[in-house]
Amino acid sequence: MARIVMKFGGTSVANVARIKAVAERVRAEVEAGNEVAVVVSAMAGVTNEFEGYVRETARLFDLREYDVVVSAGEQVTSGLTAIALQAQGVTARSWLGWQVPIRTDDAHGSARIEDIDGSEIVRRMGEGQVAVFAGFQGVDPQGRVTTLGRGGSDTSAVAIAAAVGADRCDIYTDVDGIYTTDPRVVTRAQKLAMISFEEMLELASQGAKVLQTRAVEMAMRHGVRVQVRSSFEAPTTETTPGTLVVDEDEIVEQQIVSGIAYSRDEAKITLTGVPDRPGVAAGIFGPLTEEHINVDMIVQNVSPSGEATDLTFTVRKGDFDRAVKLLQDRREQLGYQELRPDNNVCKISVIGVGMRSHAGVAQTMFKALSERGINIQVISTSEIKISVLVAEEYTELALRSLHTAYGLDAET
Ligand code: ASP
Ligand code: MG
Repeated sequence: MARIVMKFGGTSVANVARIKAVAERVRAEVEAGNEVAVVVSAMAGVTNEFEGYVRETARLFDLREYDVVVSAGEQVTSGLTAIALQAQGVTARSWLGWQVPIRTDDAHGSARIEDIDGSEIVRRMGEGQVAVFAGFQGVDPQGRVTTLGRGGSDTSAVAIAAAVGADRCDIYTDVDGIYTTDPRVVTRAQKLAMISFEEMLELASQGAKVLQTRAVEMAMRHGVRVQVRSSFEAPTTETTPGTLVVDEDEIVEQQIVSGIAYSRDEAKITLTGVPDRPGVAAGIFGPLTEEHINVDMIVQNVSPSGEATDLTFTVRKGDFDRAVKLLQDRREQLGYQELRPDNNVCKISVIGVGMRSHAGVAQTMFKALSERGINIQVISTSEIKISVLVAEEYTELALRSLHTAYGLDAET
């Protein structure tokens, strides 16, 4: 017997037929003798629709009311799922955020979970009752509804798994696991049996959209074993058909590089002839920060003359126009020569905990790219990741070459 949390994303509960199929999966786990809690998202597309209504109503709006509106999708699915379970003879009830309660801070629209008391849920699970949670929502200290940021029901699931001491948190989605890279781009991508929390965190923040980054952070912090698996495949009695996200120590055959992520959501700005004196970087990045524009990669050259240097950095595509305008407006004051904008770039990141103990990982990357004539524009590294910026048209070629270079290709 195990205690498990089963989380179903929007495509897995897209219509009533699929909700009934979800209930069947849950019933199978209950009949196998497990204690089960379920976390559901809104039906596919519903949160977008609700968000659209809010934006249509007013350009600027009260985020507390936004949360009231967009959290409604999960309320519907939790009730329907409970009804579907009851219809199949399974004892079940729905739980909204405020009923549990799932306590969060008051950062409406992207609230953080602070506390969940799982004792009552655990007691009921022990009696064979399935708890069906509305994901994505919580309640703030004033008793008002909050939401956890888009994709937040993953985080709800992990937090609930931690609160009830679950043996496993299964995230059911429309893919059957985490792949070495995007299988739509690289046909020889392979499904990973296991990946470490840290690697998953890098993959999630570098563009792989399977799990919300915050959910991975929380799983890592609380040691929750997460499994990504498909709700579109026939139910199986196998306990680990997907990808397990676990502590590094659990992974016996660790590869040097586990995965390659890419993000087209990048834009590059180069400032030439930037005066080389203290305070200039602060002068450039200060105004961007004030406008909530996140800067990712930064390179600054050593200035040969000691007077002026070039500075290149990246922002998200959605922030690009604002960032360019902001800096153009301050040209006099910042004293740079020229601003060269380029939103035709892609960031490619190779990720693996094995990098900590192996030399030459970066060299393999540089060599593979140069053999294909792909120019590297910017490089940045962390302990377990190397990222490069390349021209967007090379995305596919770069991914395929690197996938082969690191020995990740599936045998055909
Ligand atoms: N329904 C919310 C969203 O679409 C939360 C989630 O699905 O994880 O962002
Ligand atoms: Mg999701």
